[in-house]
Amino acid sequence: MIHAGFADVAACWVCGGHQLTRQHDAILDLDVYRDQHPELAAYTGAIVWFRTCAACGFTQPERLPSLPGFFDRLYDQLWASDWIQQEFESDYKDLIFQVILRGLDARTTAKGPLLDVGAHAGRFIHLAQQNGWTPEGIELNPRTASFAAARTGLPVHSTNVDRMELCRHRYSAITLIDMLEHVPDPLTLLARVTSALAPGGWIAVKVPSGPAQRQKERVRALLHRGYRARLADNLVHVNHFSPGALRKSFERVGLSRITVEIAPPELPSTQGHRARASNLLRRSLYFCGRQLPGGVHTPVALNLLAFGQSA
Ligand SMILES: [Zn+2]
Repeated sequence: MIHAGFADVAACWVCGGHQLTRQHDAILDLDVYRDQHPELAAYTGAIVWFRTCAACGFTQPERLPSLPGFFDRLYDQLWASDWIQQEFESDYKDLIFQVILRGLDARTTAKGPLLDVGAHAGRFIHLAQQNGWTPEGIELNPRTASFAAARTGLPVHSTNVDRMELCRHRYSAITLIDMLEHVPDPLTLLARVTSALAPGGWIAVKVPSGPAQRQKERVRALLHRGYRARLADNLVHVNHFSPGALRKSFERVGLSRITVEIAPPELPSTQGHRARASNLLRRSLYFCGRQLPGGVHTPVALNLLAFGQSA
């Protein structure tokens, strides 16, 4: 089967700039979808270059697949139910979740409705409820969405946020945790969810840092002969925010009192000395990076966390 082609992406999705320089490539390998979505699998072997904007530091693909619903199909993974359950029960993202909840606590006076966009297996909305919020979630993958709803007893809308009717001025807080980097043209989504914030409501976004992740992959490739830097294969991370581009995005959708800081790392469950040492290193980089003036702009800031308030 021949794939449906590509459409060029001419201007920076964050600032509209046209001075874009090739940074790294992504190879599409979608053979795993051969039976489920053959039109998606047809893109296997195609290469997409990623380019960085000289004006704001944002990195995005040079072209996007023209296949309608490409990304919906990409996230239609047939996860096994015990894997989803493990994702709910596992605490490897809890430090991230706690820092976000504490950040919202420090900024808000009344805890009202909270919307988590990209709710995955539902662990964050579960923790947010324990923390006094009234959470609901949106989750594209039907299997994780139905698990999250059943397990938490909370509303989880199983849809693409682009297609969901969002009530204007409804939510006291909206969170996008490891979500915005998966979305082409992320400002359209950011503007939509911002309009669903109540006046004075807060948004929290956690994404990987594009420049720091590139640096890390370069070092890896130097240390391991034959290792190919992987930053955007299959367009799963379809955009890469620098700290400046994240701030600019918040400004462009009209958010104020913006902060961009280093986000905590994931801490995978540890067994054995190596895994414990690796988690200790991740924690140390995070806590040391936070002490450094301008630490968010250094290679130790592998992940970014931004807060902004609606007018
Ligand atoms: Zn730009």
